[in-house]
Amino acid sequence: MTTQILGVSEASLRLAKQLISEGEVVAFHTETVYGLGADARSDKAVRHIFELKGRPQNNPLIAHVHKDFDISSLVDNIPAYAKKLAKAFLPGPLTMVYPSTGKVSPLVSCGLQTLAVRVPSSPTAQAFLRAVNVPIAAPSANVSKHISPVTARHVYEDFQWRIPLILDGGRCEGGIESTVLDCTGETPQILRAGLVTQEMIASVAGSCGVYVPQKGEQPKSPGMAYKHYAPQCRTAFFAPEELEKARALYLEEEQKGGTPCFFCEEALARLLPGCRVLNLGRSGEEMANRLYELLHRGEEEATLLICICPKERGGVYEGVLNRLTRAFGRE
Ligand code: AMP
Ligand code: MG
Repeated sequence: MTTQILGVSEASLRLAKQLISEGEVVAFHTETVYGLGADARSDKAVRHIFELKGRPQNNPLIAHVHKDFDISSLVDNIPAYAKKLAKAFLPGPLTMVYPSTGKVSPLVSCGLQTLAVRVPSSPTAQAFLRAVNVPIAAPSANVSKHISPVTARHVYEDFQWRIPLILDGGRCEGGIESTVLDCTGETPQILRAGLVTQEMIASVAGSCGVYVPQKGEQPKSPGMAYKHYAPQCRTAFFAPEELEKARALYLEEEQKGGTPCFFCEEALARLLPGCRVLNLGRSGEEMANRLYELLHRGEEEATLLICICPKERGGVYEGVLNRLTRAFGRE
C-alpha cells in the first residue's frame, strides 16, 4: 500500500472520508502529536489501530470529535466543572474522561465503562473530523512504545506501506500528548500531565487532583503503566546535580568510539562546552515543543543519549518530566 502525504484540500478530505467509511486508518495532524485515526464505532477499524501499532490490548484510546459535535451522544453525567473546563480550554490539548453511553466500539475503552473524549484545535484535525463527522478513535501515530510523531515524516517512518494517508498539517506545536483528565468524580483529577496544567484546571474548576496509582492497584489510565516514547539508541538518565557523573559517561562513550549526546535544558547545555547537546530550551512550553523532535534527532545521530533532568517542577514541566522519565527508562 502506498502512503500518501497530503495537506488539507477538498480532494484529500474526500479521500479521508472514504477511507474512514471503509474501516481504514488515516493519520492526521493535531496541535499535540500526530494521531492514527479510525471510526470509533467500528470494532474492525479499532482493532486495526491496535494491530498496526502493536499496542497492548488494555491501553484505551481517545475518541476525537470536531468542535460542534454533540458529545452527549457518547458520554453522560457531565459535571458542571467539566462544562466550565470545556468552555475554557476546548478545542485544545485537554482530554476529558466521562461515563460512556456505549455508542462507540467497546474496544476503544478496552472494556472500561468510561470514554476519553478530545476536541483538538488543529485546523487540519478539525477539517478532517468535520469531513467524516463520526467519532474517531486515535492514539498517537507511532509504533507502540516508540517516540511520538510531531511531523508527517515521523509518521511515515513508522508506518510507510502500512497506512494509506497522512493528513499533513506541518510540525505539531504543542509537542506532547494532551492532558488526560478524569471527570467522573466530584473534582477533576489528572491522569496524564500535559499542556493544560493542574494550575490552569484548578483556576477554572476550583480544585484539581493528580492521580497517583497505589502499589498493586489497577491504574485508572492503563497507558501510564508502560515504558513509552523510547528512542532506539542506548539511553541514560541523570538528576541535575549529577552533571559530573553524566560527563564521565559521555567521555567513556566517546573513548569507546561511540557518539554520545546530551539531552538537557539550555542552562545545563551552557555548562557543557565542546560536547554534543540537544538543547531542550528554557521554559516548560519550549521543552514540550522540542522534546519529541529532539528525541527523533537523537536516535538518528547518537549511540548514547544522556538526559539530564530539568530542575523546575510544576506547570508544563510535569508533562515534560513524565515523558522524559518514561523515554529514558524510569517509570
Ligand atoms: P495515546 O493514545 O497514546 O495518547 O494514549 C491515550 C491515553 O489516554 C492513555 O494514557 C490511556 O490510558 C488514556 N485513556 C484513554 N481512555 C481512557 C479512559 N477511558 N480512562 C482512563 N484513561 C484513558
Ligand atoms: Mg501514545
